[in-house]
Amino acid sequence: MPLLSSFPDLASVLTIDARALAHNAAVFRGVAGGAMVGGVLKGNAYGHGFPQVLECVHDRLDWLFVITPHEGLAVRAWEQAHGRVARPVLVIGAVTPGAAVELARHDVALVAAAPSFLEIAEAVAAAGVPPLRVHVHLDTGLSREGFLPETLAGDLGFLDVGGDAIHVEGVLTHFADTEDVTEQTWARRQLDRFHAGADLLTAELRKRGRPTSLIRHAGASAAVLVLPDARLDLVRVGIGLYGLWPSRETRISARFVLGDVPELWPALSWRCPSQLVKTVPAGAYVGYGCTHRCRDETRIAVLPVGYWDGYPRLLSNRAHVLVNGRRCPVLGRVMMNHVIVDVTGVPECGDSVVATLLGQDGGERVTAEDLAEWAQTIHYEIVTRLGAHLTRTVIGLGDLDFVG
Ligand SMILES: *Cc1c(COP(=O)(O)O)cnc(C)c1O
Repeated sequence: MPLLSSFPDLASVLTIDARALAHNAAVFRGVAGGAMVGGVLKGNAYGHGFPQVLECVHDRLDWLFVITPHEGLAVRAWEQAHGRVARPVLVIGAVTPGAAVELARHDVALVAAAPSFLEIAEAVAAAGVPPLRVHVHLDTGLSREGFLPETLAGDLGFLDVGGDAIHVEGVLTHFADTEDVTEQTWARRQLDRFHAGADLLTAELRKRGRPTSLIRHAGASAAVLVLPDARLDLVRVGIGLYGLWPSRETRISARFVLGDVPELWPALSWRCPSQLVKTVPAGAYVGYGCTHRCRDETRIAVLPVGYWDGYPRLLSNRAHVLVNGRRCPVLGRVMMNHVIVDVTGVPECGDSVVATLLGQDGGERVTAEDLAEWAQTIHYEIVTRLGAHLTRTVIGLGDLDFVG
């Protein structure tokens, strides 16, 4: 008797194009102008799938940035399973002392971002594990993680714990306002504060006879593209790696700063086969709340996908999907597990269709930016909220050369 699990569900599928990821990584390597290039894989690799993206980009990046210790250790496990060299990995999110000990054991770096880091230093020193690689986060104007440069000197007690337990190898900051503007006044001010804080940190390390050659890093995708002074030693590329522009403002600025707008290739497509296709009479209501009424006889496709999968309910009566290269409006409300679309304009479609919710079909395209605009959010949220349960299939990996 075959198990039920050996039959694939009728469900939507995400496709990740390895060639697009490789192309985007190469674009940022070119733009970064000699700085090391790091990829940000937080948020399930911006919803594209952590293991899938890791497999595509591991050999093309100098650093990997993740948000949780679990992801940091997952990189090490993947490298071991695939016989790959261990890339530098930095956990940029919150970590408990217990997790920090595990990271030290696996040579994964983490961020020191508050005076409470002292507890982590003590736990690592007590555990007798290899030195923990640490990047000191400076809060230069976001008011999120990080030490304030003004009080940094008094907050470095963790350096004096347990001899060599802590190895400071980097210093970073994160910009508050690079995507939303076309002039970078606030970012420049943050950068000045960053260098002042990093110089102070260097001096404090020197006083203690510690290594002082720190990796300085600040720029995420937008800053890498439009603020050359922010590229420093290492760049942290998130959204751009996936082929998405941080914002319209970033695109406009890039034209001025780079003299040209680099081409980024969106790596993600989202498709869904129909559950059924049928014709409803003129006057039929569609979906919960009867918010859509068909004026004429209408051919509809019911798609087994909904807000549970990450297709926002705010797309109700607003979005369209693509079928055979044609736009098909979403009729009525997006439901938990269903979306109904109007396929009357696709006469050849017959009794089943494959709808493109996100991506290209023929000459038409639905972008993450389109979905974000319709759903009153940003494309970062659209892609990162794609359900972790969805099947993610990598294409094009065989077309790429191994970079090493
Ligand atoms: C998310 C994040 C990034 C990447 O930002 P993008 O705009 O997606 O490139 C870089 N650095 C830090 C600290 C982040 O939290």
